[in-house]
Amino acid sequence: MTALHVLGSGSATSVDRLQTSFAVVRGDGRTCLVDTGGGTAILRATVRAGIQLPQIDVVYVTHMDFDHCGGLPAILYARALEASEPPTVAATSHVVGALRELMALVARGLPDERLARWRALKPWTTTDFEERWRLTPFPARHIEGASGVVVSTDDVSVCFSGDTSPHDDVARAARGASLLVHEATLSDAEAALATSLGHSTPTDAARAAAAAGVERLLLAHVNAPVGTEAEFAAAARVSFKGVLDVARDGLSISFTRDTGAAA
Ligand SMILES: [Zn+2]
Repeated sequence: MTALHVLGSGSATSVDRLQTSFAVVRGDGRTCLVDTGGGTAILRATVRAGIQLPQIDVVYVTHMDFDHCGGLPAILYARALEASEPPTVAATSHVVGALRELMALVARGLPDERLARWRALKPWTTTDFEERWRLTPFPARHIEGASGVVVSTDDVSVCFSGDTSPHDDVARAARGASLLVHEATLSDAEAALATSLGHSTPTDAARAAAAAGVERLLLAHVNAPVGTEAEFAAAARVSFKGVLDVARDGLSISFTRDTGAAA
């Protein structure tokens, strides 16, 4: 049974949440990470989720803000010491270039080919990995090279918005997905600020989920402290009638073939 684990539910400045990272874990334990949090805390988060580093087939990085890519050096360095084969690191071509420069600076002791198999993916083009994963990136409205991504296994498809202000491509990408994981960085009261910063609110996320017709929505990348989940959920509930959760570190959602998603 495939499951989604929230390793980090927070935004760049969160104190009581780890920065953004998700793991899609198949029934056989093989794992695809989407974003890596902001630093070495990702190593402890993966262990707590029951994920060993050699299980990771693919790491997708949505963009170069540190709260999404900052844990990559920790993962790649530790993985290189544990396993003979490096994972695939996939992103848009802009982000792959930047990540390779980052790794050259911070992991000088290990050659590039020991750290990662780099794969630059094209928007709206589906790429197969290891005959287990299909990844389809799509553009996000945030910073240069930013993207969302749809991660599919044989039975499950999860759409990640990435950091973004609202735009129609999210609903297009999420159509048919088992779950939409959408950022909701700021509250609806801060909607103008959210848009100006390239972010979304609970209502933006809910509208994208409703437009996509998905049955399940997970709000994530929450800038608000732990304890404000009910407030964010209530705001999203106005526009989205399906199954709704607000991410917390350590939350897991398991998927079954029959029902799509079941908590
Ligand atoms: Zn972010």
